[in-house]
Formats: sequence, C-alpha cells, structure tokens
Amino acid sequence: MTDERTLPLLLTPGPLTTSRRTREALLRDWGSRDKAFIALNTRVRERLVELAGGVGTHTAIPLQGSGTFSVEAAVQTFVPRDGKLLVAVNGAYGQRMLKICERAGIAVMSLEWSEDQVVEPARIASALDADSQLTHVAVVHCETTSGILNPVAQVAEVVAAAGRGLLVDSMSAFGALPVDARSVRFDALMASSNKCLEGVPGMGFVIARSEALAKTQDNARSLSLDLFAQHQGFERNGQWRFTPPTHVLAAFDAALEQHRDEGGVEGRGARYRENCELLVSSMRQLGFETLLPDELQAPIIVTFHTPGDPRFDFGRFYDLLIEQGFAIYPGKLTAADSFRMGCIGQIFRADIERAVGAVASALETLGVTDCAKRKDG
Ligand SMILES: *Cc1c(COP(=O)(O)O)cnc(C)c1O
Repeated sequence: MTDERTLPLLLTPGPLTTSRRTREALLRDWGSRDKAFIALNTRVRERLVELAGGVGTHTAIPLQGSGTFSVEAAVQTFVPRDGKLLVAVNGAYGQRMLKICERAGIAVMSLEWSEDQVVEPARIASALDADSQLTHVAVVHCETTSGILNPVAQVAEVVAAAGRGLLVDSMSAFGALPVDARSVRFDALMASSNKCLEGVPGMGFVIARSEALAKTQDNARSLSLDLFAQHQGFERNGQWRFTPPTHVLAAFDAALEQHRDEGGVEGRGARYRENCELLVSSMRQLGFETLLPDELQAPIIVTFHTPGDPRFDFGRFYDLLIEQGFAIYPGKLTAADSFRMGCIGQIFRADIERAVGAVASALETLGVTDCAKRKDG
C-alpha cells in the first residue's frame, strides 16, 4: 500500500494520509453550477446525514474552511443572541469554543476537568439546574488534545432531560466512532472532511437537527459563518452561497465511497481500533507510558509521556522519525510533557509496525535506554 501514498505517513490528528484514489479525484475542475457538481454535492450531503442516523430529521450543511470554521459557525448559529452556552472543557478544543463565544460576544460559562478525565454528565446536569439562562451545552466527542473519549450519549441524555440544546464537536471521531441521531439527541454535530472520513482538508460540515435549525435565522453575527443562510442556499438550488471548494468536495465524495467500501463507521472504527491497540502495546514494550488508561482512550490519537531519560530530545526524535517516513505530533497538554501519535487516516497494521520500528531505531540513535516518564510528572 505504501506506493499508493506519499511519504511521510502522517501519524497526526490531521491533515492525514489519504489514498491515491482520493487524491486523484482532485485532478478535475468543476463548474459550481454544473449539474454533475450539484449532484455530487447532494450525494455528499445525503451520505453525511445517513452516517449520523439522521435521515428525515437532520440535514448536512457543508462549510468552507478548516474544522474550526464549522465549530464557530455552529456556535454562532445555534446559540441565540440572548442565549448562553455551557462548555464542558477537558482539553484545548473545549477551550477553543470558550474563545469563540468570547469573540462573538456570546454569554458562556465552562465546567472544567483535567485533561486525563472524562467530562461528567451529572455535573453538567447540576449546572443546568442551577442556571436557567443556559440554553445550550457544547461537548467535544474525542478531545484530540489527549485522545480521551467523552461520554457524548450520556451528556446528550442529561441535556435533553433539561430541555436544552446540544452542540457536539465530533471533529476527530465522526466516521469512526458511532453517533446515532435516533438515540443521541443533538442540535448540531460538527466534523470535517479530513479526519476519520479521510478526505483532503478544506471543508467542514455540520449535521443539524432540522427543527432546531429552523429557529436560527439571524442568530449568526457573521455573514459567511451563518449556517441558516448556508443551508437555505443548498435547499434553494443545490448550490453553495459562496465559491465552493470544488476539488475538496470531489475528493471527499471519493473518500466517502471508500469509507462505505470499508464497512462504514464500523469498518473504519475497527481498523483504527486495531491500529491503536497495536501502537499502544508496542510502544509500551519499548517502555513508553500512555497518558490515559485503556478504558478512556479513543482509537484516534495516543498521548505518550516524554521519557525522563535526559538523552531524549523531542526535536531530534521527530527529525529521526521524519527521515524514516513518519510524521508524529507534539503534545498539547498543559500539565505534562508529552507527544502524540495518531492512528487515523490511510494507516494500516503494517504501517504501525514499521512506525514503532522507526521509533526503536530513533531511540537507539539517541542512546535512550529508559522510556519511562519523568518521576516528578
Ligand atoms: C481537528 C479538530 C478541530 C478543528 O481543527 P482545525 O484545525 O480547524 O481543522 C476541532 N475540534 C477537534 C476535537 C479536532 O480534533
């Protein structure tokens, strides 16, 4: 499979390694009003709704830009001007939603957990009880900061019971970890073309509950991030309001076909889980310690503690891995020194085996013999 891909392989949270078939879909130009492009666009939107279990109740709204654009659009569109958002924070992407609210002048409060702890539905329920101003709750599905899996279904239950709206940042989970709109009630779920669905970067999308979306006209403080208006454009004539990322959509369409061929969410999730288990067990054999216990780990990206051995230098370690064809990712934790390795994208068992081999060789070059974390942290 290696010859189908370009090096380095990206063991990161995105951009990710894509297939040749996905990249080949970029080779054609499309007119945005071309019937074939409109059909492609409709097909992509319908498939996204199917993947979320939202046929008949939900609608997919693609949006230009990276994933954050879609998160910002959802926050602005769904939280009314006199509304207030509760953000459950256990990492950088929860923090980012707070910042989005502050910029837009949206009333917001946060509940915080440490980066190695899941958010707790019961605390969210009490906060909703205590503050009648709160209209919406936002939660991150897989917090890519650490790789932790938050209990989205249980959060959805307490939010629905309290009669509030839920926004789910499922950016690094959607397509590999199940979310079923028939059992998990949300107003908006945000994701992008380039994470578990393995398209190229350049667009995000929001799966919106149609009933909730219908009440959002004029909420957005931004013209281009207004999902109500973006959706109206699609419904009116199947077209994007502003220049569509045509090539990105064509690649995404091809990526969705391959996702279907792999067995959809279940098949994609199974490959990532196998990658993750192999990565964690092999790295532990080398002596590395994971931040998270296995039961909190999502099969998306793994945080490893930086070895305490003074000969370990992350910059040199990174370069030695790039030379061998693997890109890894620095840590994003505030509390501990760490680095991350992703399990998503066009990455297979044999790639993980080779990547861990490259890690072993880099350690040897550096003269690192003990990969246990530093004793003080
Ligand atoms: C990747 C990601 C985003 C979006 O990040 P961009 O860099 O804007 O694409 C948002 N939330 C989570 C949890 C993510 O993993």
